[in-house]
Amino acid sequence: MPLRVHPSIAKLVPYSPGKPLDELERELGIYDAVKLASNENPLGPSPKALAALEAGKETVHLYPDGGAHALTRALAERWKVSGNQIVVGNGSDEIISLLVKTFMSPGEEAVMADHTFVMYKLAVTGGHGVCVEIPLNDWRHDLPAMARAVTDRTRLVFVCNPNNPTGTMVTRDEVREFMVAVPDDVIVVFDEAYYEYVRDPQYPDTLDYVRANRPVVVLRTFSKIYGLAGLRIGYGITTPDITGYLHRVRNPFNANTLAQFAARAALDDEQHVAASRALNESEMASVGNGLHALGLAPFPSQANFLYFDTHRDGRAVFDRLLCEGVIVRHISGSMLRVTIGRPEENRRFLDALSRVLETLPMDKDSR
Ligand SMILES: *Cc1c(COP(=O)(O)O)cnc(C)c1O
Repeated sequence: MPLRVHPSIAKLVPYSPGKPLDELERELGIYDAVKLASNENPLGPSPKALAALEAGKETVHLYPDGGAHALTRALAERWKVSGNQIVVGNGSDEIISLLVKTFMSPGEEAVMADHTFVMYKLAVTGGHGVCVEIPLNDWRHDLPAMARAVTDRTRLVFVCNPNNPTGTMVTRDEVREFMVAVPDDVIVVFDEAYYEYVRDPQYPDTLDYVRANRPVVVLRTFSKIYGLAGLRIGYGITTPDITGYLHRVRNPFNANTLAQFAARAALDDEQHVAASRALNESEMASVGNGLHALGLAPFPSQANFLYFDTHRDGRAVFDRLLCEGVIVRHISGSMLRVTIGRPEENRRFLDALSRVLETLPMDKDSR
């Protein structure tokens, strides 16, 4: 008998995480591949986090602190909210799923951009909700159109800022107008996974809405600038009411012991964060220049990656780069996303890309 699966789940395409480095190297017979595919920190984890892991490993026979007390207290202090406004998750991905599970019933709607972080669609569809996808405007979230798409069936609105995969952001003034237009029984989720990389002074302080008790959830993560993607730990900052419901739904031990220890230590390693930000800023400028020199124009990015049009079959460019030992992310059509790495990695990428582009003809319509 065929399995009976919910039709919306049957239609889902599984998230494609990309191959681990050692797999790819074995397959291609190379040994020094560079991975610029998942927006990880090229400097690695904070040394303070590594020391905390070392110390924390003695206690892994015990269940984790289910309330993540020490980390929650530190985050509350950092962001000037109270502890009952923080929910820690198994990556911020988990908070996205928890929000869907907690606040959406089958058939209800979530508004999001059409080119944005894939987790929103996976979580909403997986929760039997309906995704209302609003086209980007000039590669940025079209907040006025997103506000107009809100109906009495809308439960959540996802604003990815800066947006993955485009790297673009919406401003404080745009968010202010948006928040006036959105009814205050709709939960607005600001996914700020790249918060620590943002340089633009027009970037909004969305925590102000949380402090004003609007139903807003701000998502942050230890996976990006803090360099702890493999430990799976992120968090949401929101109102005490929303936090209370999320705590009812989450698994009691969703954030593991080592992740909590490492995150707590990484949060205080300002030196590592500053070095990571500085490296990203200078290397993004040189990768941007390198792409321009190849006749490609990346979008202005506030994050740690660049998004660009290859004017060729993007899948073919991606595959040839793989053969050169350089892993990037193929988004769709002719578009690729590349993470900013260390200087030598970025040079490898640009050199490989220049060879690959020579061998692939440009699409007719983009000549
Ligand atoms: C990487 C990323 C996250 C982080 O996910 P984790 O589950 O915390 O690792 C969240 N949102 C966006 C847009 C991202 O790019």
